Amino acid sequence: MNSPTHNDDRELRVSKIENGTVIDHVPGGQALKVLAILDIDGSGGETVSIGMNVPSEKLGRKDIVKVEGHELSQNEVDVISLIAPDASINIIREFDVVEKSRVDRPTSVTDVVACPNRNCITAQDEPVVSRFDVLDDGVRCVYCDTIVRDDLTDHIHTE
Ligand SMILES: [Zn+2]
Repeated sequence: MNSPTHNDDRELRVSKIENGTVIDHVPGGQALKVLAILDIDGSGGETVSIGMNVPSEKLGRKDIVKVEGHELSQNEVDVISLIAPDASINIIREFDVVEKSRVDRPTSVTDVVACPNRNCITAQDEPVVSRFDVLDDGVRCVYCDTIVRDDLTDHIHTE
């Protein structure tokens, strides 16, 4: 077993960032999905550090995502909460944490998840924006009751 002090030492080894966002306490193995939600694939030139499967007292294993030069919008935080309900968001300016918050799962998300049901009214040529209720372990389309769980990230679209 590692002592908490030992874990702190480990985290310090992940490089600090000057300005940007640190997303901590992401479930182990989900870091790349967080980047997908943020639409970061490296082509935009952002400096990104990822710690994957870092030992964590709370989660067992956790991922950490650090994005330089990007402060998350509320919409992005809401979407991240769908796959990382225990995540904490740290806004960094001049190497200092100026804002630290836990994600807060919204009760519903609008125009974020595309309904996989091809017969759903939101998938038709109608001016209907998708809306999903947020469940403990997924989301449910308010129009056709389709539930999206494991492959949620595949259906998320953000601008
Ligand atoms: Zn639907």
